[in-house]
Amino acid sequence: MTVTAPVRRLAAALAPDDLPAYLYDLAALRAHAAAVRAALPARVELYYAAKANPEPPVLAALRGAVDGYEVASGGEAAHVAAVVPGARLAFGGPGKTPAEIAAAVRAGVHRWHLESEQELHLLADALADHPDAGADVLLRANLPLDPGALDSVALTMGGRPTPFGLDPDRVEHCVRLLAGPLGRRIRLRGIHAHLASGLSADRQTALAGHIVDWSAGLARRHGLALDEVNVGGGMAVDYADPGARFDWTAFGTGLAKLLDRHPGLTLRIEPGRALTAYCGWYATQVLDVKHSHGEDFAVVRGGTHHLRTPATRGHDQPFEVLPVEHWPHPWPRPAARTGRATLAGQLCTPKDVLAHRAPAPGLRAGDRVLFAMAGAYAWNISHHDFLMHPRPGFHHLDEAPPGS
Ligand SMILES: *Cc1c(COP(=O)(O)O)cnc(C)c1O
Repeated sequence: MTVTAPVRRLAAALAPDDLPAYLYDLAALRAHAAAVRAALPARVELYYAAKANPEPPVLAALRGAVDGYEVASGGEAAHVAAVVPGARLAFGGPGKTPAEIAAAVRAGVHRWHLESEQELHLLADALADHPDAGADVLLRANLPLDPGALDSVALTMGGRPTPFGLDPDRVEHCVRLLAGPLGRRIRLRGIHAHLASGLSADRQTALAGHIVDWSAGLARRHGLALDEVNVGGGMAVDYADPGARFDWTAFGTGLAKLLDRHPGLTLRIEPGRALTAYCGWYATQVLDVKHSHGEDFAVVRGGTHHLRTPATRGHDQPFEVLPVEHWPHPWPRPAARTGRATLAGQLCTPKDVLAHRAPAPGLRAGDRVLFAMAGAYAWNISHHDFLMHPRPGFHHLDEAPPGS
């Protein structure tokens, strides 16, 4: 596993009461995002889906590598605008309220991702109060997919009945509305589709081709130019294989071929998880090790109220043990007897498990554990207040890598 040197050093140096803590390696994040950018053709714009991790140092670290940020609420829009002033925002998400829409009109977002016909009318209403403002929109489409196209992916937002986006016939209807009076202040720029999460590069490329082909057909039927297609996020992150990475090079090559077929087109992607998952670690300490009915359990400081990712996704969070030799107490040091241990947190629920029956030979109370891949959908999706344990520390490390 690839714990970076600054993270390893700090995880060992923190006092026990300063654990648990989230440690982020911003230099590693910048390097990863720059590599992603470099793998993409120039006509692919890279937006970061802020909901994956909206911490200000994370948003700021990405600034140089991304073309903008996808925000999915008025709260995210205001937050990102304050943290990275002047950055381009794409405002998506279902259930936009009239107040959120009015605020985003005033703030001037770069792109609107409209989820319904009603949102089109709400946007027109908000614009009526701001005679100088306009809006550039993408219609979010929930496209039918071939049976099996999304088999075994982690989450699907489209290709089946969902609250997201517009069915194809409703997209056609909105295009017709935008050809009328509504289109005077609202410019239709293209199509947005975010249909699934957890796709490999091959399947992402095929899905992007499907979305673009469908959008090109729509544009042709309405006599419009096809300017922009946003094919969403959802690039796979494999928690069972922390060393694996989404194949950005293959994806970039696939998108380049797609762009060759559509000379006037700008593509946009908006990954969240695959950008920030790898830059974060949740560092903690083993408080106790117990043997229960034949199995070893290590109870760590903190738990799924800080790092809910494994509980929500039903996976084992990958981790590395940092052995601590010093044992300050006169009594025997609790230690695992079998080769495997279940790493549980401090909550009074059997669901508070970070990793089940994971290889952890000789794990002892006092050892430290670094849970990897905790940079996305981790702290910010967790139920922090349950049981009123203290909050973790947060450390955003930013050391230049050696030789740079
Ligand atoms: C959540 C979301 C994303 C990012 O998804 P990841 O799986 O984190 O890449 C992108 N676009 C939309 C519309 C989303 O809701």
